[in-house]
This record gives sequence, C-alpha cells and structure tokens, in this order.
Amino acid sequence: MRPTPSADAATVTFREELFRRGLLVETGVPGVYGRSGEFDDTVALVERLVMAAGAADRPEVLRFPPVTSRALIERSGYLGSFPHLAGVVRCFDGSERDHRALLRAVESREDWGVGLAATAVVLAPAACYPVYPLLAGTLPPDGRLVDVMSCCFRHEPSDDVARLQSFRMYEYVRAADAQTVLAWRESWLARLVHLAHGMGLDVRIEAASDPFFGRTGALLADSQRGQGLKLEVLAAINGEHAPTAIMSANYHQDHFGELFGIRAHDGSVAHTSCVAFGLERIALALYRRHGLDRARWPQHLRQAAGA
Ligand code: 5GP
Ligand code: ZN
Repeated sequence: MRPTPSADAATVTFREELFRRGLLVETGVPGVYGRSGEFDDTVALVERLVMAAGAADRPEVLRFPPVTSRALIERSGYLGSFPHLAGVVRCFDGSERDHRALLRAVESREDWGVGLAATAVVLAPAACYPVYPLLAGTLPPDGRLVDVMSCCFRHEPSDDVARLQSFRMYEYVRAADAQTVLAWRESWLARLVHLAHGMGLDVRIEAASDPFFGRTGALLADSQRGQGLKLEVLAAINGEHAPTAIMSANYHQDHFGELFGIRAHDGSVAHTSCVAFGLERIALALYRRHGLDRARWPQHLRQAAGA
C-alpha cells in the first residue's frame, strides 16, 4: 500500500466539519464515505452544470456501471502503468471444503481472499475506458465525441477528504485526427475556467502527470508533464496552499487509437483526448468556497440546486 499522505490541520478540520454536519458519513474505510441527501444533490447540480457546458457539441451519451470488463483493462495498458490503483473483482468459486477454509480464515482474521477466483470484471478506474473499444474502425470525417459518466475506483486510501477510493467521474471523450483532437482540447481549457468561475471557484491550470507506478513510471510522468499531455484545473479544497485537481484535460496521442484499432477518416491512427470532471471534488470545492451552510451560497447556485 502506498503511504497515506499526512493531512495537515486545515485538511483535518474541513473533513471533521463535513462529518459533523453529516454531509459525509464515515464507513471505517479512508476515502469511502456515505453522503447526505444534500451532498448528493450538490453533486447532481455539478453534474447538470458539466453536462450543460458540453451540450452544445451534441455528444453521444453513454453510461456504464461501476464495473468494467477485465479483458478491456488488460488490453488498455492500465496494469502496466497503474497496477497499484487497480481494483479487481474476485469471487468464491470453490468446494464445500474450500468454503470451510474460507470461514476459518475469516474467523482468524487471515487473508480470506487467497482462494477467490478472478471474474470477468474489474472496478472501473476511469469513466472513459469502456468507450475506446466502441470506437474501433474508421471514424466519421469529424471524428466522434462521447459524454460518459461512471463511478470509479482507485486504491488510494487517504485521510485527504478530496482523495476518495470510490468517486464519480464525468468525461467528454474525443477521437479524431491529431489536429482536430488537439484543437478540441485547447477549446475546452477556456470552457473549464468559465465553468469554474460560474460556480464562484478560483482556479488555475497546471501541467500535471498521472501517478505511474515504479521507476519507469517516474520517467513516464516526467515526459507526460514535459509535453503538457495532462493539464489539471486546480481549486482549493484543503485550503489555498495545496489546491486539488477538480478537472483534467488529457491528450493520449495515438495510445488508445493503436491499442483499439481506431482510425481517423484519413486512414491515420486516431488520436484521443478526454476532459474529466471529479464530481465529488467539485462539490467539495463548492463547500470549501461558499461554506458548509448551503442556504448561504450565492443565489444563482442555490436556485440551480433548487435549495
Ligand atoms: P484523472 O484521470 O485525471 O486522475 O482523474 C480525472 C478527475 O477525476 C480528476 O480531475 C479529479 O477531479 C477526479 N479524481 C481523480 N482522483 C480522484 C480521487 O481520488 N477522488 C476524487 N473525489 N476525485 C478524483
Ligand atoms: Zn479519461
């Protein structure tokens, strides 16, 4: 397990306050929280605003469950880059004798997962993965644009209330030729800032990297940051000193195009990009910015939330 980043006083206070007010509910597992009706209503408001921000482009809308195909994740290269974040679903598939052994292990608090068999599913690590295989073949002249949302899992237990193990991610996924995809991502940067400002959030955009595993991963992260392949929109959740990524705009070059046989209309390997929104993180940024009493939020947000 990766070490849990230590939380400073401001972080702890904000989290405790969210628990005290019942906006979040502890489950005994760091990064896995229940939510109050109000908190989820705020998440629903954020979802509507994100959907509205992309609606003019008339994306195809697809929704997937929180589990996805194991074969897809094997094929996507996820396990090469992020084996430490993956969550896989393994289930009991044994004899009565195996069952007795399992119960003995549970009782003696040993690892009872050893006898479980792999299933065809893993927990979705990001909303966009199930989209790429659907894009295989030659794209229409203008490429494709998909609006997708799902509950995602990443094994990152942490006391930082902004780092959840299970969270909802909304994404717009674009596939086309390189030039079209880059222009599309560029056009989203201003929209992301506009969307954040509309919610009253102070944000800045920074080049970032994914948490690739191991020594090779560190090199990949440097290269990703250097080439500006991942841009993050940062906002205060745990205070101004350590802003959190509430949105990201990722350019995958031809990575998924190669892996999933996606071709642009001109026959070249398609490039892809996704713009991702962490719905709980945006909701938390709103509580941080406007206060935990939603009745005192700016009127346009209260109206939009129906609060
Ligand atoms: P990415 O794939 O860029 O890491 O994640 C996409 C978006 O999902 C991020 O911009 C962020 O808003 C959200 N996200 C990523 N990791 C977490 C997390 O641990 N907790 C929460 N609540 N949101 C996350
Ligand atoms: Zn994505």
